[in-house]
Amino acid sequence: MSAKVILRAKRAQPFFGRHPWVFPGAIERVEGAPADGDEVDLVSHGGNFVARGLYNSQSKINVRLYCWEPAVPLDRAFFRERLSTAVRLRHDVLKLNTPDAGYRVCFSESDYLSGMVVDRYGDWLTVQFTALGVANRREMIVDALRELLEPKGIYLRTEKGIGKLEGVELHDQLLWGESPPADLSIAENGMRFLVNLTEGQKTGYYLDQRDNRAAVARLCGGKRVLDAFCYSGGFGLYAAKGGASEVLGVDASEPALELARKNATLNELNDVTFENADVFKHLGELVASGRQFDVVVLDPPKFARNRAAVPDALKGYRRLHQLALKLLAKDGLLVSCCCTGLIAMTDLEELLAQVTVEARRDLQIVERRGPAADHPVAVTCRESGYLKCLISRVL
Ligand code: SAH
Repeated sequence: MSAKVILRAKRAQPFFGRHPWVFPGAIERVEGAPADGDEVDLVSHGGNFVARGLYNSQSKINVRLYCWEPAVPLDRAFFRERLSTAVRLRHDVLKLNTPDAGYRVCFSESDYLSGMVVDRYGDWLTVQFTALGVANRREMIVDALRELLEPKGIYLRTEKGIGKLEGVELHDQLLWGESPPADLSIAENGMRFLVNLTEGQKTGYYLDQRDNRAAVARLCGGKRVLDAFCYSGGFGLYAAKGGASEVLGVDASEPALELARKNATLNELNDVTFENADVFKHLGELVASGRQFDVVVLDPPKFARNRAAVPDALKGYRRLHQLALKLLAKDGLLVSCCCTGLIAMTDLEELLAQVTVEARRDLQIVERRGPAADHPVAVTCRESGYLKCLISRVL
């Protein structure tokens, strides 16, 4: 029999509503002395089964819920089935499993597998565990992934700070199979991108921006394009391929720029310039020198990890947009990406309104976009929605 986590009175509603995170404040008591990582039943104050999850006394999330059916245990077959459901979205519905493709196979809560992200890069998979319960089950997860996706190798990537948050020691390492080759590349919308999945940022590539890069590239024919926070060249190289007359990519990471330059060569796009610089500083210098662009892409990293950091994050976005407006020629296009989950689309739009009014310009939002469809949002855990991308015309 599983141990039980009993909720305080009147605290069961979110979990009957299938939200997967149980914080300590909702819990009255724990019965049966579960070890961290063990399966537990979440029970209402009145004694009714609510859901089944994995326990972790060391995490701020004491129980992560995976299943709402009383008769279904969280065993090998359960995790295999959940992963198979995630794979079906990418393969059968989205048809992303083309040769050498890169796509997100499993996106944590969004695929009802809290604490687990799996990306595919050609014949290799990366796995990220952000919860102890699933990290402890890595062998069964690796077995299921091998069976479902037949990769050549599976590599574990760890996010900084997770060990402490969850009380689990994890290190980047090959979990199974062959190490990825140094020149691993994926095919995306008719282009190729090198992916360093052992050392690159995130798990090697920003898969979530795939469709946004294509949407922007369609608008870049004959335009002067600035790709701020370019990483391995994504938006800028798409723009060049889309016929841009001039492309400048800016990033502060030399390894990222090395990849970007190699990606330019790989795609035979030799007219692209990449600069190693701090974007805030460099955009200021471009303004001072009177440079103008027809398209400015802003794709900064996450600026806030918690609510306390949101006001400073908004200041950062505001500054970037003020600079971008100064660089944009009349009828220019502004691409505003924001991957800070705590800042909503409406906040970003409000910020655009304020900044354009201050600059005495007009701005029309022409496309409101999100991440590519392999980054879905479970409707009962909308916190997983994070990426916003607004394409606007500036008058
Ligand atoms: N647009 C990219 C993804 C960008 S990720 C794509 O389509 O793939 C964010 C990038 O911002 C990272 O490459 C990081 O190195 C860079 N970065 C973070 N802070 C920076 C700063 N202040 N100036 C320049 N680059 C920065």
